Amino acid sequence: MLGPNRIRELAAEVGVRPTKTLGQNFVHDANTVRRIVASSGIGPDDVVLEVGPGLGSLTLALLAEAGRVVAVEIDPVLAKRLPTTIAEQAPDQADAFDVITADALRIARDDLPVAPTALVANLPYNVAVPVLLHLLAEIPTLRTALVMVQAEVADRLAAGPGGRVYGVPSVKARYYGDVTRAGSVGRSVFWPEPNVESGLVKIVRTDAHPDDPDLRRKVFAVIDAAFAQRRKTMRSALATWAGSPVEAERRLRAAGIDPGVRGERLGVDDFVRLAGTD
Ligand code: SAM
Repeated sequence: MLGPNRIRELAAEVGVRPTKTLGQNFVHDANTVRRIVASSGIGPDDVVLEVGPGLGSLTLALLAEAGRVVAVEIDPVLAKRLPTTIAEQAPDQADAFDVITADALRIARDDLPVAPTALVANLPYNVAVPVLLHLLAEIPTLRTALVMVQAEVADRLAAGPGGRVYGVPSVKARYYGDVTRAGSVGRSVFWPEPNVESGLVKIVRTDAHPDDPDLRRKVFAVIDAAFAQRRKTMRSALATWAGSPVEAERRLRAAGIDPGVRGERLGVDDFVRLAGTD
């Protein structure tokens, strides 16, 4: 485990000055790292995809439990140093580790040396939701995801229909599986300390919807339209999406949805039925 002193030393050694743009807040607390790994439920049969390994504190804990870890890091300086850190701290597991220097938002399944089964990551906060949704869409072999994100984002992802913070990320995450809040994390476990609290979110893929990119695009388009004007009824919120208010009403009725309802009352299955009414 990389404690607070080692984290600072390593950063100084490689010449990294953590940037906000890349969400570089490094965890230096062994308990937090253990909690993340325990909540993820990973074991020796898992190939873990870690986004943003940074200086490697979570990576080391993942390597101790998983069969293999593939890390994707956008910062070339951090990515270059990582194999040395693993070789120094966990020489027996060095063969089970790969790092790719890339933007996780652009990663495709063919860019990875193996098919990962689980995503475990302390995500860069400014791109957390797009990264999570991109990877769930692009890599169907990912059965579970345990991610640390900004607490408000964790609340939004885990919210169910009718809740105050239920919205686009909540519904889209539910398209892939069951989503639960898996705990809270304070600021003091990071260096540098972020300005916000953090939260853990777990997604377990259920395969409730087919892995069909065309269907997903259609479903996500109607979700975006429904929440673009939150206060409006579905009849008017979906007028542009459907072509006219009359057509919106027809499609809503065809999907068995009351046209006077607001989007925040609908579950992902309602949006899937709506997308299929064309
Ligand atoms: N996992 C480390 C830890 O827990 O200490 C670092 C987590 S830090 C919150 C986020 C990491 O993601 C940083 O190392 C940053 O360089 C990296 N990162 C930022 N944007 C990225 C992107 N688009 N793709 C891949 N890595 C990214």
